[in-house]
Amino acid sequence: MSETTWMVIRCPHCGYCSGHRQGKGRCPLCGMSFPRDVEVVVTVSHADALQREVALANTPESLRKELRKHMERDLKKTNTANETSPTAIFQALREAANAEGELTSTAVMGVLQRLGTEQSVDEVMTRAETEGLVLRLARGCWMLLE
Ligand SMILES: [Zn+2]
Repeated sequence: MSETTWMVIRCPHCGYCSGHRQGKGRCPLCGMSFPRDVEVVVTVSHADALQREVALANTPESLRKELRKHMERDLKKTNTANETSPTAIFQALREAANAEGELTSTAVMGVLQRLGTEQSVDEVMTRAETEGLVLRLARGCWMLLE
């Protein structure tokens, strides 16, 4: 199995960086064919990393560090979202409840957003009800049972 390598290539003509499967091709901006000794900014092994590297390569040096930091934070957030366990959600819900142990849908939504999970308030709270963790008091309002 051969591994696909992607390259970010800087166009010697206009300086625009674009992603390519191999070290030849054309600049999508000015249409110039790349010479044999074209500058390869970086090589990556995943197409999704390529998109990120192209964006970075086309960012002025002074802003690049900031952008990379931003992207890595987004990446981290996405990773956490996939790993958010029901236990983590309920733990956070417990912390979001008020002194009386009441939980509003606004508070729940805040928790879900903070955790970056894709689940809806309804999904999470229905499951919490099923598991006997909360009691629905009214529409959009729950009481923690433990
Ligand atoms: Zn070009």
